[in-house]
Amino acid sequence: MNTVFFKEASEENLNKAAAILREGGLVGIPTETVYGLGANALDENAVAHIFEAKGRPQDNPLIIHMPDAGWLDRYCGDVPETARRLAERFWPGPLTMILPRDPIVPLRTTGGLETVGVRCPRHPVTLELIRRAGVPIAAPSGNTSGRPSPTTAGHMLEDMQGKIDAIFDGGACSVGVESTIIDLTVTPPRLLRPGGLPLEALREVLGEVAVDRAVTDALKEGEKPRAPGMKYRHYAPKAPVTVVAGDPEATAEYIAERVGEKTGVICFTEYRDRFPACTVEALGPAADREEHARRIFDALRAFDATDVSEIFAQCPDTEGLGLAVTNRLKKAAGFHVVEVQE
Ligand code: AMP
Ligand code: MG
Repeated sequence: MNTVFFKEASEENLNKAAAILREGGLVGIPTETVYGLGANALDENAVAHIFEAKGRPQDNPLIIHMPDAGWLDRYCGDVPETARRLAERFWPGPLTMILPRDPIVPLRTTGGLETVGVRCPRHPVTLELIRRAGVPIAAPSGNTSGRPSPTTAGHMLEDMQGKIDAIFDGGACSVGVESTIIDLTVTPPRLLRPGGLPLEALREVLGEVAVDRAVTDALKEGEKPRAPGMKYRHYAPKAPVTVVAGDPEATAEYIAERVGEKTGVICFTEYRDRFPACTVEALGPAADREEHARRIFDALRAFDATDVSEIFAQCPDTEGLGLAVTNRLKKAAGFHVVEVQE
């Protein structure tokens, strides 16, 4: 298949891409979080092609994307008042809400669940595409299953060229990690995946929020997470990753004592000179959590074009976007984490 690449957000390109979506094709779409692999969420056949192109397990549900909160009642069963409040405050933005499914949303889209994840992305191209397509767009991250999520159109091409109808280039993602997922079908609401909207912001609106164990810890053999996707190894570069947690000075020292020429290092910018022999990806200044989020997937991906045989990563703390970045790093490492004492 020839994958069409749309670069300009012209009337003609928007109409062409929207038509592909409406008619059951697959389009790589830009959002503020990561690039998504979009298809008509109501078309089972189109949705089946998403799973095929990604090599995604069938039980891993897709998030559906809408242009505004006005579509909530069309696709969700019973919309609680908290959902409307969150949408009012944080949409368009990096927040996915789990709500009861309306039967119009196929079970294939929801991985067999009676709930559905809904989000309104903050990107003008994708909002326009959804409006013009006139249907909700199911879109998981646009990577091959297991690989780091794409944060540029170039990353999407790497994984999906020849497998999908089109990719719409909307520039580099401004947030860089996937959406925060909150389950509103349980009491108290439960954080299933940390993401681009900090947990602290959710607590300001909701009060108590439970944090699913899968956010911070490896699951036990056979244990089922509430977000089915959290059970899969994810975001992993080819070389094995060790996450080194603790005070940045101490973790830099710990890593520097263990590296060789074929070591890759993910570190804060202040520490990059400590590893002169290594392949280094800097995450940005230690205090800049937004920049860590923007950089993390590109850093993980970059090592696959090198011959590094192991990767060490300095780990941010869990405040603000740090919770999402830490979660992605730990998952990339298969929860291989070393805690360094000062
Ligand atoms: P991705 O599309 O790659 O961003 O992954 C979507 C994540 O949302 C996966 O971890 C899914 O398991 C999770 N998810 C989507 N829909 C639901 C749902 N109805 N209930 C729980 N988790 C969901
Ligand atoms: Mg994904």
